[in-house]
Amino acid sequence: MSLVSLLPEVKAFLERKHGHYIHGHLISGEGPRIDIVSPANGEVVASVADATQDDVDAAVLSSLEAFRGSWANTTPAERANVLLRLADLLLVHREELAQLETIQSGKIIQIARAFEVDQAANFLRHYAGAATRIHGETITPSLPSFNGEKYTAFTRREPVGVVVGIVPWNFSIMIAVWKFASALATGCTSVIKPSQFTPLTLLRIAELATEAGLPAGALNVVSGGGEAGRRLIEHKDTAKVSFTGSVQTGMAVGSVAMQSKLTRATLELGGKNSVGFLKDVDADRTVAGILEAGFVHQGQICAAGERFFVHRSRIDETLEKLSKALASFRIGDPMDEATQFGPLSNEAHFAKIQSFFSQARSDGSTIVYGAESLDRPGYFVKPTAILVSDANAPLLTEETFGPIATLLAYDEEEELLSLFNDTPFGLSASLWTNDLSKAFGYVPRIEAGTVWVNMHTFLDPAVPFGGVKQSGIGREFGSAFIEDYTELKSVFIRH
Ligand code: NAD
Repeated sequence: MSLVSLLPEVKAFLERKHGHYIHGHLISGEGPRIDIVSPANGEVVASVADATQDDVDAAVLSSLEAFRGSWANTTPAERANVLLRLADLLLVHREELAQLETIQSGKIIQIARAFEVDQAANFLRHYAGAATRIHGETITPSLPSFNGEKYTAFTRREPVGVVVGIVPWNFSIMIAVWKFASALATGCTSVIKPSQFTPLTLLRIAELATEAGLPAGALNVVSGGGEAGRRLIEHKDTAKVSFTGSVQTGMAVGSVAMQSKLTRATLELGGKNSVGFLKDVDADRTVAGILEAGFVHQGQICAAGERFFVHRSRIDETLEKLSKALASFRIGDPMDEATQFGPLSNEAHFAKIQSFFSQARSDGSTIVYGAESLDRPGYFVKPTAILVSDANAPLLTEETFGPIATLLAYDEEEELLSLFNDTPFGLSASLWTNDLSKAFGYVPRIEAGTVWVNMHTFLDPAVPFGGVKQSGIGREFGSAFIEDYTELKSVFIRH
């Protein structure tokens, strides 16, 4: 056991009265208080104010002023430099941010360090590079002139305005960075609403952004629940929403955005991601693939695999080895560096996962391992594997967003392809095989925004990410985000 000691600055931050970050300042807020609970023990560690309409108005006004003033007056290279300085500051404060994130989300400390803070810095640097590469094109109009005059046309990519970023609780730092860095790189400004369960790290990052030289208002943070998010989207001075969260909330957000004032919406939603192992993959590699795809951060990753298809000739050996592997997980305090598997992130999610366990017990599915909570404080469950025999079983069709691998045996390769695609969702999928030519045959036919081959849940700033079907609209990072955060203006010149 190697329990991490809390840094004094983390203790001091938790003791502050938290609210919002508006126009370069932390304000405690007048709205009702929301408790922030440690999932590791169920204790309240801090509280944050729910946003009032006045808070929302102040944040949007401040971001609009920055959009038209201080941020509009920066050059692309100056924007890039602010993002680069912020990336450096995240790494200077790496341990502080990682500890805060682990306390509020239950993410094990190594993942908080490596996937939240370090990756967020990598993403910031990617966006900094993009800031100086945003451009339109020059066009020669082809319609005839009447008096010999000539025409030249060109397009400009112009920032859309104030962007509302709405963030879920599973990756509070990284997903917030995707949103505000996309906005800042393109010349937009941003108001981010973190999840009501995990607002603390973003409030600290907003302070660091000011230290990095970001002008007041270019990034504001408004804390609160769904109502605060809705008010931001409906506000007359917000131009776009970039939402990450569940399908159900995403559909509500999309329709509020359209109905309020045709607000542009990028929706990064959940899914029920498929993982298929061809017959040539042995049981050891299959088990390693299931662990990689399904159990990182207790399965609370939007792109994690939840539907696992294994060839019937491999299924018995796979289940036996998978059960042993899951039983060997070191479950414990997420602040302990030896822990491999921490708690679920909040009480509501803990209850939801337990209801999936009850369903599996009552509907005749085979429980290969787990399907029970742990008798200790906090929101701990066992990593779980369940075998079903019917492709329509609820566990194979409904997103659990938890550490539940549901397996189904298949016989024919054509059957595997329909299993992959027989879902209304399409965020990600992975195919595992030793035969790359077969893999390339599958890739174009799998309906998902990202298809991995012999790997899963690997995101890179240069590679666009987003869903098809009910898993979303739009793409984050890569260079694809630029279209979503800018409008194309056409300019004609007669000469
Ligand atoms: P959620 O949809 O409950 O909440 C997401 C955010 O939306 C929160 O900040 C919440 O306060 C806010 N919200 C709730 N109602 C709202 C409303 N009416 N208007 C505006 N905002 C509202 O999701 P969650 O439980 O926080 O996160 C888990 C879900 O997120 C899973 O379904 C998961 O698959 C998905 N997710 C998707 C991605 C992706 O990139 N596609 C990434 C991470 C998580």
